[in-house]
Amino acid sequence: MAAKEDFYKLLGVDKNASDAEIKKSYRSMAMKYHPDRNKDNPAEAEVKFKQIKEAYEILSDPKKRAAYDQFGHAGVDPSMGGGRQGGFTAESFSDVFGDVFGDIFGGGGGRQRGGAQRGSDLRYNLELTLEEAVAGTDAKIRVPVLVACGECSGSGAKKGSSPIICTTCHGHGQVRMQQGFFSVQQTCPTCRGNGKQIKDPCGVCYGQGRVEETKTLSAKIPAGVDTGDRIRLAGEGEAGERGGPAGDLYVQIQVKDHKIFTRDGANLYCEVPISFPTACLGGELNVPTLDGKVVLKIPPETQTGKLFRLRGKGVKPVRGGAVGDLLCKVQIETPIHLTKEQKAIIESLSESLTGGGKQHSPQQHSWTDGVKSFFDKLTG
Ligand SMILES: [Zn+2]
Ligand SMILES: [Zn+2]
Repeated sequence: MAAKEDFYKLLGVDKNASDAEIKKSYRSMAMKYHPDRNKDNPAEAEVKFKQIKEAYEILSDPKKRAAYDQFGHAGVDPSMGGGRQGGFTAESFSDVFGDVFGDIFGGGGGRQRGGAQRGSDLRYNLELTLEEAVAGTDAKIRVPVLVACGECSGSGAKKGSSPIICTTCHGHGQVRMQQGFFSVQQTCPTCRGNGKQIKDPCGVCYGQGRVEETKTLSAKIPAGVDTGDRIRLAGEGEAGERGGPAGDLYVQIQVKDHKIFTRDGANLYCEVPISFPTACLGGELNVPTLDGKVVLKIPPETQTGKLFRLRGKGVKPVRGGAVGDLLCKVQIETPIHLTKEQKAIIESLSESLTGGGKQHSPQQHSWTDGVKSFFDKLTG
């Protein structure tokens, strides 16, 4: 490792410089090596910047400065300062410039380039009726969200002021604590790790930079959505931290059960009760669809459980494709509350059906045969 340059030399001050002189010099150096002003040679500027930052961190801290004066670089091993020794990240640039430019230009300037964090995505469960899901709808969605505080524009600092570099950890976000023989690295208790401190917190958000608000959003739900579909509303999620971009809001569709129809993809199913005489003699029936009634023709001698397909009376899928069908399953109802007279009629019908030598029960024959062979196997 190359010998380190003298910290005083780096900042262009002499050994007896006051804190104010050191700060002033550091600022002008920091400006000089600002990445925006060194586009021709960013790598070199970055190295230089890193050096002056380190020098400033040491010399601006009375204890560290004293150790440095006494022992030189050995007295202020960078690891003692805690924090990121590894790479030089964009974040450490903006931490410092945020402060420097903030002070000089009164906010704005180089504010929050790296520290900003994108807000979380949010999920909203939206219940729709089947009719709404099939036809599409404009849903009003009320969501509690954290939005950037309007008073401080999300910085958390009182209007007109800006956050400063944390004085406890000097922007590292981490501090070293001596515990007996051990030195332990911990998240800085003052800034909770973000490296910045708000001296004068915003009175509206109490320094959080975000406030909770109930937003009413209008979400266009396209026709044909189904349970499990998601609609993304870009940028309607939680506000970013410290001025970062907002997350997205995902509207998760849940279609409620319908009294009559069940849905399977593009098809709809329903059960249609029919009377015993209609099943025998045939007839016409009004069946409901999602867009009005249609007439369903029941042919004579219809068996229970038979499916009738009404083409194109299903759902148009949201991702395109053919409109589905409506499938009606008929259920033959056994008459109840029979009068004496009705019972007599059924009895004579029964005699007539069994006595004529004709097969009137299409299923019974094979069923009886099946049961017989089942019993034969059991006893056999
Ligand atoms: Zn701190
Ligand atoms: Zn605020």
